[in-house]
Amino acid sequence: MKPAAFKYVRVDSVEAALSALEQYGSDAKILAGGQSLVPMMNFRIAQPSVLVDINPVNEIDFIRAENGWLCIGARTRQTTLEKNPDVNQKCPLLAAAVKWIGHPQIRNRGTLGGSLVHGDPTAELALVATLLDARLVIRSTAKSRTVGPADFFDGFMSTRITETEILTEVRYPAAPPGSGYGFHELCIRQGDFAVVAAAVQFTADDVGLCTEARVAVSGAGPKPLRIPAAEKILAGSDASAAVLDAAAACVPAELQPMSDLKGSEAYRREMARIFVRRALADAWSMAREKR
Ligand SMILES: Cc1cc2nc3c(=O)[nH]c(=O)nc-3n(C[C@H](O)[C@H](O)[C@H](O)COP(=O)(O)OP(=O)(O)OC[C@H]3O[C@@H](n4cnc5c(N)ncnc54)[C@H](O)[C@@H]3O)c2cc1C
Repeated sequence: MKPAAFKYVRVDSVEAALSALEQYGSDAKILAGGQSLVPMMNFRIAQPSVLVDINPVNEIDFIRAENGWLCIGARTRQTTLEKNPDVNQKCPLLAAAVKWIGHPQIRNRGTLGGSLVHGDPTAELALVATLLDARLVIRSTAKSRTVGPADFFDGFMSTRITETEILTEVRYPAAPPGSGYGFHELCIRQGDFAVVAAAVQFTADDVGLCTEARVAVSGAGPKPLRIPAAEKILAGSDASAAVLDAAAACVPAELQPMSDLKGSEAYRREMARIFVRRALADAWSMAREKR
């Protein structure tokens, strides 16, 4: 199928994009990489009458390390996140997770901001933003606001950003010294969306105790979830195999999965436990090596 007819507006600044959104209101949609919006338009699930193309807006295509944060423009391509040395050094989990998004052709066009605003509950970028408690900078003509994942991801394919706002930047805390990460994903075929995925970041102190643990799961609810019960078991522990087993064991009860063609509710709970356990093992061994 082909999309319904639409007006095309190409802009070259955030200011111009915001004015176009003000002018066309609820009829307009931002076009970034087009890797989710265009298929939805072809299936006529989305029928915007105006597309505001932000591809020429270079001011939101940047990666900067600033005071312990990695600040990334929303129009940055996913493939850039995968290859950029600052991302690989300061937020290596992000670079590792991006490799799981679709195929290289998708990542060459798809953007950081497009993925986050689209709000797919299994999106790798949403999972990493949730795990690391990233800050999302959102602008309208009137103001700029900064929110965390809990105030941004609303539910299945739903995010809290209005028709006249643009996501301009995402800020990730740089990985602390002595930290390690793990990322494991179950998908049916290479390049498919995840059935479930698990992300972990651990920090070890000089004597080999875990000072901080972050654990998050996607594909087991309407949006990615942190697992505080597991994090509590891990923090301050020696992260022995028994502790990692106990942390993973509390994951299934924390989830709200749905059954679908890719897997039943019970299957998703169990796979989440297994994938968290694997991610914990990877993260802890990396954190210990870095001590
Ligand atoms: C075959 C295939 C496989 C895929 N596999 C995966 C996968 O495994 N994992 C995964 O996470 N994704 C996957 N995707 C989706 C891909 O990651 C998309 O790139 C992403 O979901 C949307 O990013 P985009 O830049 O293409 O945004 P677009 O499709 O252009 O836009 C998506 C939505 O975000 C809005 N938007 C975009 N940018 C902004 C902004 N800066 N401010 C406000 N609103 C904005 C648009 O208006 C639209 O509503 C796949 C896509 C395809 C076609």
